[in-house]
Amino acid sequence: MRGLDFPIFKTKNDSSREYNLSDPEERKAYFWEKSEEDIKAVAEYLEDNTFIAYLLGKKQAGKGTYSKLLAEIFGKDKIRHLSVGDIVRETEKIRDNEEEKEKLLKYLEENYRGFLSIDDSIEAFFNRNTQTLLPTEFIMMLVKREIDKSAKSSLLIDGFPRDLDQISYSLYFRELINYRNDPDLFALFDVSEQIIDERIKYRAICPKCSTSRNLRLFPTKTQGYDKESGEFYLICDNPDCEPVRMVAKEGDEMGIEAIRDRIETDDELIRKAFSLHGVPKILLRNGMPKNIAEEMADNYELTEAANYTFDESTGNVIRTDSEWEIVDDNGIESYSLQAAAVVVSFIKQLRENLIK
Ligand SMILES: [Zn+2]
Repeated sequence: MRGLDFPIFKTKNDSSREYNLSDPEERKAYFWEKSEEDIKAVAEYLEDNTFIAYLLGKKQAGKGTYSKLLAEIFGKDKIRHLSVGDIVRETEKIRDNEEEKEKLLKYLEENYRGFLSIDDSIEAFFNRNTQTLLPTEFIMMLVKREIDKSAKSSLLIDGFPRDLDQISYSLYFRELINYRNDPDLFALFDVSEQIIDERIKYRAICPKCSTSRNLRLFPTKTQGYDKESGEFYLICDNPDCEPVRMVAKEGDEMGIEAIRDRIETDDELIRKAFSLHGVPKILLRNGMPKNIAEEMADNYELTEAANYTFDESTGNVIRTDSEWEIVDDNGIESYSLQAAAVVVSFIKQLRENLIK
């Protein structure tokens, strides 16, 4: 499949200082160095204004991570990340709570409009009645209800629109939630399939404490080697877990193929949104072609991946970290930018779109 080919954004500057982007304090200093003017301008805008951004990227593209970073920079009271999946899961939990269900029913009676009755919608929702396709109007009411729970703030909406039909709904969503004059925009994430594949394939979970890590991208301090299978594995860092071997979740070995249908729909959604007229778009890419990486990004902004070898003579696992090398969906040899570097580009484009 042809990739998206979004523009490459330059984050390299003249400073020789390096930042450890996994440390919150260092990250703060990093953003200040790379985006001071943009942050100031957007922060000033957010004093009196709000916006709505629909985040569209393939599953495992890291939308949650980017949202967290934006909230970290501008404040959680200013920018809220709304995951539609989380809202649905939270609402499902009230299945046996009559009092909460009553409140939901009351809200729907006041706000819901649609062809399926409220009773039938609720029946389909709580009893997973797969015969009845849950109407988009119903999902939107759950999202609106969540929005209504807090004071007005800017919104990063993740998981809506979820299919092609819902794109049209999203064009008028701001009116529905009484954010009528707020600027709304689509933030489109270009993340290559190999990145998604390895994020899934090398995921490892502790069977005792359920901590999730990644053998190549987010290893624990100690690793082991299984001579029989020839596999390297992580050992959980949690002191309460004894030394326990972290394991793959069932199906993760298939990597991206396990979620292929979802990936295809997401790809179609992004392309559809990209072709929309009249709605501003923020284009974000994770991949950095190798041949221009040195000129466009600082070395510490590139994601590193761990490689392992087993030393027979000492019985030790030797780990070496180097830039994560990937081939993007257009066949270009690339590196992967760390989330913070992508956010620098996000903030700049936010400023350009919000402040005319
Ligand atoms: Zn553990």
